[in-house]
Amino acid sequence: MLYLTVYIPQDIDQRNCMSTKGDERRRQALEREHQQHRKTAEELATLGYVLQGSIARRWMTCGKAACPCTDDPTARHGPYYTWTFKRGGKTVCVYLTADQATLCSQWINNNRRLERLVAKLRAVTRRIAQLQQIPSK
Ligand SMILES: [Zn+2]
Repeated sequence: MLYLTVYIPQDIDQRNCMSTKGDERRRQALEREHQQHRKTAEELATLGYVLQGSIARRWMTCGKAACPCTDDPTARHGPYYTWTFKRGGKTVCVYLTADQATLCSQWINNNRRLERLVAKLRAVTRRIAQLQQIPSK
């Protein structure tokens, strides 16, 4: 049989105990946020190419009066793929092949993932700043 005697120093008051518990909770919360940050940063490192803009698939009318596309929406020409993006504050739209559109769509999806991950990193950092009592007002 093993007996364990624990000596509690007399000078530890209630306020001290609570502060120690609070520090421990804060340390654990910080550790959780650090893990979240690490996880998000690792996910960020796996991201492929990123492209801004959007891809559209359209069917068009040609403008010739004799063409069936004039009256019949199902007879329209296409699909045509376009990539629309901003350059120097102006909206640019270019035509793509179907394969190019597929590639660009993947890169645009990666860009959306990038933006979500960056937003997550910023939110985690704000919580870490709060836990480290950095004023945010
Ligand atoms: Zn036509």
